[in-house]
Amino acid sequence: MVRRKLVAGNWKMNGDRASLAELDGIAAAAAAHPGVDVAVAVPFTLIERAAERVPALAIGAQDVHEADKGAHTGCVSAAQVKEAGARFVIVGHSERRGDQGETSHDAWAKSAAAHRQGLDVILCCGETEAERDAGRAERIVQAQVEKSLPDDADGSWLTLAYEPRWAIGTGRTPTLDEISAIHAIARAKMRHMIGEKADGIRILYGGSVTGENAAAILAVENVDGALVGGASLTAAKFVPIIDGAA
Ligand code: PEP
Repeated sequence: MVRRKLVAGNWKMNGDRASLAELDGIAAAAAAHPGVDVAVAVPFTLIERAAERVPALAIGAQDVHEADKGAHTGCVSAAQVKEAGARFVIVGHSERRGDQGETSHDAWAKSAAAHRQGLDVILCCGETEAERDAGRAERIVQAQVEKSLPDDADGSWLTLAYEPRWAIGTGRTPTLDEISAIHAIARAKMRHMIGEKADGIRILYGGSVTGENAAAILAVENVDGALVGGASLTAAKFVPIIDGAA
């Protein structure tokens, strides 16, 4: 099955109003490559301005609460980010698992909350370095997918992202064979869970993707795009990755 490539940026807790100028160059690159989907998850505070500035670009959030509304001080709901202009949300990112203790069950509940509001979801999974060193990477990813993939998931709204935690922001990446092996296992696990619908779900690779390594990673079987942190903060670094997906 042919799946369109998706290159998604994650600005994390970086950026201010001035940084939104970077989106102009990113939107221009997206327009130059209509065969590639391009998206950027910005901080909550920038969603509305970003969506207004580059309406053709998919702007997203980096988290939502699992409840639709209520007494959850400091949290933001899927309906609220949608109203601000978000089209998608990243859930289960390893920094939220590590910093906030989020679990795969939380990622499942947040995916469902986002879907209830009509948002697309990028659902993250990935092993720690200790888990990889112990030979458990494949089992960890299988278990995370099993616990976090909603039953009604399909490629029209959900994308999986494999992000080995030890590759995030470190400049280290798995070998292409290691990426291929995990993506194949994730695809097989989704097929086991939801049948043929799994074939329509994109699986992104994330972790130290740059303009230099993007084309090789994106050519690996079952790699349907990239989730990019540091290199998504400027058009100068992000655009070569978009080019690499085209
Ligand atoms: C990420 O945080 O999702 C990520 C992949 O970060 P980086 O590209 O900086 O490794």
